[in-house]
Order: sequence, then C-alpha cells, then structure tokens
Amino acid sequence: MAEHCIFCKIINKKLPAKLVHEDEQVIVFMDINPQAPTHLLIVPKIHINSMNELVPDHAQVLGHAVFVAKDIAKEWGIADGGWRLVANCGDDAGQSVYHVHFHMLGGKQMSGQMA
Ligand code: AMP
Repeated sequence: MAEHCIFCKIINKKLPAKLVHEDEQVIVFMDINPQAPTHLLIVPKIHINSMNELVPDHAQVLGHAVFVAKDIAKEWGIADGGWRLVANCGDDAGQSVYHVHFHMLGGKQMSGQMA
C-alpha cells in the first residue's frame, strides 16, 4: 500500500467506491467521472505506480485483470456490442492516478479515434 494513493485507500476501504468485483488480486469499481455508459476501473491490489514500472512478476495479475474484464463484459451485457480496455501511462497519456489500472469502457459506439 502507498500511503497517499487514492486507489490503495479504496482497496483498503479507507475511501468509498461503487464496487463491482473484488477478489484476491484485483478490485473493480465505477469511475467517479464516467466517459461512457459503462466505465469501470480494474485495479490490481498491488501498488505499481505506472506501466513503466512493470516487471515480469506482474504479468499474472495483469493477465488476471484482463480476464476479469472479459467476464464483467459478459455479465454487464456489453460483450457482444464491444468494449474498450485502456491503460494510461504517464503524463502525456493523461494518467492522473499513479496506481496501475485499466479503464473498461462500453455501452456506446465509441470514436475510432484513439488519441
Ligand atoms: P487515469 O487518468 O488514467 O489515471 O484514470 C484515473 C481515473 O480515476 C479517472 O477516470 C478518474 O475519474 C478516476 N477516479 C479518481 N478518483 C476516483 C475515485 N475516488 N473513485 C472512482 N474513480 C476515481
């Protein structure tokens, strides 16, 4: 846990969030400022500042996060319509919370524009 990290505080139940899923490795909650009808954050419980700090030991938890996204897409009825998984890394990408996470977006036709 990183002391000043808001996602670590959510993981440790020091801050409230609208939880969607939790297991030993990840927590999933609704983004506070949704950019799509479905906008969830899939967050590894281990604190990693950004994708730039990934090491091979992190592969399992990140892979797990992607499978959780797939399962949630089915549960939430957006699997067939399609959905997007985004990870912002660093200032140029607009990362605002320095705890690795995936945005899961769906429920609307998204722009073909990626950047
Ligand atoms: P990023 O800019 O890629 O680092 O994404 C951080 C995301 O966290 C943004 O989409 C914010 O809206 C979201 N966010 C920040 N604080 C909270 C919070 N307390 N609960 C839920 N989502 C949050």
